[in-house]
Amino acid sequence: MPPREDCLFCVLVREGEHVHRADGFVAINDINPKAPVHVLVLPERHVDTFREVGDFDPEEAKRMLDFVAETARVVGLEDYRVVVNVGPGGGQTVFHLHWHILGGRMMEETDL
Ligand code: AMP
Ligand code: ZN
Repeated sequence: MPPREDCLFCVLVREGEHVHRADGFVAINDINPKAPVHVLVLPERHVDTFREVGDFDPEEAKRMLDFVAETARVVGLEDYRVVVNVGPGGGQTVFHLHWHILGGRMMEETDL
C-alpha cells in the first residue's frame, strides 16, 4: 500500500530518526520506552496490522524477520523480547504494522 499522509509511522519512515535502516525497513526508538532499549521496526510499506502479513511476499517477509533480528544486534541486545500488538484488543494504537524489540533488563511476564 502507498504511504499515507495521515499515518504517523509512514511519516516517521520518511522523516524519523532511524537507529537502523535497510532496504524496505527502518527502526526507530520508541518515544515512550517500556525498557532500557525499546525499538520499533517498521516496514516502509504501509500495512495496517500483522493480520495482513500475507501482503508481503515470502522473500520480503523473510527480510523483515531478518531485519528484526539484525536490529536487535545493532542496538546491542543479545536477549530481548519481540512483540506485535494486533488490533485494539491486542493493544495496538498505531495502525501501521510494527514490531517492538524490548531489552536491556530482565523482562517480566506482564511486559507489553
Ligand atoms: P502499539 O501500541 O503496539 O501500536 O505501539 C505503538 C508504539 O508507538 C507505542 O509504544 C508508542 O510509545 C510508540 N509511539 C507513538 N508515537 C511515537 C513517535 N512519535 N515516535 C516513536 N514512537 C512512538
Ligand atoms: Zn503507515
